[in-house]
Amino acid sequence: MTPTTATLTTNPAPAGAGGGPAGARGIRRLTGLKPTGHLHLGNLLGAIRPIVGTQYRAETIVFLADLHALTVPHEPARVRALTLEQATLMLATGLDPDRSLLYVQSQLPQHTELHYLLECTTGYGEAHRMIQFREKSTAEQQVRLSLLSYPVLMAADILLHDTDEVPVGNDQNQHLELARAVAGRFNAQYGQTFTMPRAALPEVSPRVMDLSDPARKMGKTGSSDAGTIFLLDPPEVIRRKVQRAVTDPGRTVGYDPRRRPGVANLLEILAACVGGSPTGLAADYRSYAQLKGAVVEAVEGLLRPIRLRHTELARDPGYVRRVLADGAERAREGAEDTVYRAKRAIGLLC
Ligand code: AMP
Repeated sequence: MTPTTATLTTNPAPAGAGGGPAGARGIRRLTGLKPTGHLHLGNLLGAIRPIVGTQYRAETIVFLADLHALTVPHEPARVRALTLEQATLMLATGLDPDRSLLYVQSQLPQHTELHYLLECTTGYGEAHRMIQFREKSTAEQQVRLSLLSYPVLMAADILLHDTDEVPVGNDQNQHLELARAVAGRFNAQYGQTFTMPRAALPEVSPRVMDLSDPARKMGKTGSSDAGTIFLLDPPEVIRRKVQRAVTDPGRTVGYDPRRRPGVANLLEILAACVGGSPTGLAADYRSYAQLKGAVVEAVEGLLRPIRLRHTELARDPGYVRRVLADGAERAREGAEDTVYRAKRAIGLLC
């Protein structure tokens, strides 16, 4: 489907449509991307590629978590621009809008409606214990109340769609456990209402590190610009970043994550791009220069088609907006059904 010829079909909505547990339908997987920064290679390898790769096997829901972006100091125009950019990039990486659901969180008001009901099922202590809240609240001078209740909104995001699986990195596992605890308690107190979600921890979890500081994770915020390969970086910028990547004083190429984390990171990136194991690939290169040349080529090979498709899609933002509006519309019926069940169960008149 090209942006100009697109017709937005309302296929039997693969995701977010009908309620109820898996069985009558396929496994449903959900992922949210927070528009707080430009997407990078870590996002692509750790989150986007796994979910796009399974969209024909599992019902797939991807939402742009713009409400979560408001939990820390933010710039309104930047959040809006990043939301559109990330949506465009999701389509550019191959998310099929006819097959999967792609929408913006704030355009489906049932997220916030369910959030409130779940807040009435969550203890202050439970939310306060979350490691991410503790870390982020010590870094900020003015802590927003929404930062404390962020994991409850995340629980609402997940439970709203009767999600079966949530692909999570280790950093988000505690939040998923909270969602499970909230769902379990709600079901026990008010009657069976929510599907119990489970974490899908990737078998091989590529954890892409900052190229200029391999002790830090490559990230939208917190990592260095020089050490982060953004999906829309031009080829010469990718080349420069890889060539300046920190290695170590050794001469031979070997895979030893503990003692040579910089080289190990390059080998892991290469393996994630071209296949094979980092140890096996290490044997193919005699110098760091050779290895870096191969990494530049592999990363560029992966990102080039995405960049080109993004350029094409970005020419028609109206198309991307229509995909998002259509996604929210298709998600609405199932979301309304979940909220109705929760309202009735908890004692509201509906
Ligand atoms: P974030 O950018 O932190 O909001 O994360 C969005 C998704 O990308 C999550 O599923 C993360 O686990 C994944 N992710 C973020 N950074 C990396 C990284 N450096 N390596 C692998 N996966 C990552």
